[in-house]
Amino acid sequence: MYTDEALLPISALQHLQYCERQCALIHIEKVWAENVLTAEGRVLHDRVDGGGHETRGNVRTVYSLRLRSLRLGLTGQADVVEFRKQSDGVWQPFPVEYKRGQPKFNNCDRVQLCAQVLCLEEMKGVSIEAGALFYGETRHRLDVAFDDELRAKTEALCARLHAFIEAGVTPAAVYEKGKCDRCSLLGACLPNSAGAGKSARKWLARQINELCPDQPPESEITTTRDAQSYPELRESSVECPPPPRGVQP
Ligand code: SF4
Repeated sequence: MYTDEALLPISALQHLQYCERQCALIHIEKVWAENVLTAEGRVLHDRVDGGGHETRGNVRTVYSLRLRSLRLGLTGQADVVEFRKQSDGVWQPFPVEYKRGQPKFNNCDRVQLCAQVLCLEEMKGVSIEAGALFYGETRHRLDVAFDDELRAKTEALCARLHAFIEAGVTPAAVYEKGKCDRCSLLGACLPNSAGAGKSARKWLARQINELCPDQPPESEITTTRDAQSYPELRESSVECPPPPRGVQP
């Protein structure tokens, strides 16, 4: 059992599946940036994040329901949970998660919804067999069955997430066209310049060369570490010329 302090957000499961570096940047280094895709998703969620509930016939709909599982170490929020009254009088939960875009080829969204279900089952002491994903682009509900395979995959991912965050190591960036271009952290991650096997020193040198084209080429640029290790190289460290009069540095 996890303590309240050790709980991790359900959304981190999706980040971990999308890209381990993205997960580390957000949940270990606390970096966050919004792009048009995350903004669209936020607007879609804002429509159901107002909280509250309503009842129509035998369906009681609860919005923005807080979730927690001490067994899996998760916390989060369900966009919508419909409680459907059964013939025996029991109100059976049926969670609905709102997503921007359209159904994905992988099962990231299903895993996230299943994590919500595992929380709900622990909190309410019930068994939930089905829920749904609603996609903003297609405006279509996709039913999801919480079978043993999906549950096992979700629980294994929860364990991996805790081990990953506990390790506290941010993996090197590996640029993948399509994936990185859609990532809101592209500007903070710099996968083209800071990826595995890429030299941060050469990247820094290129940036300086672009700003100061009259300065020595990359090979003559030293880093602070170089300068400490080899004092004789300090003189070749690059300095930008002062900006023209009237221009703020
Ligand atoms: S830009 Fe690419 S490598 Fe960097 S966090 Fe995003 S998906 Fe991962």
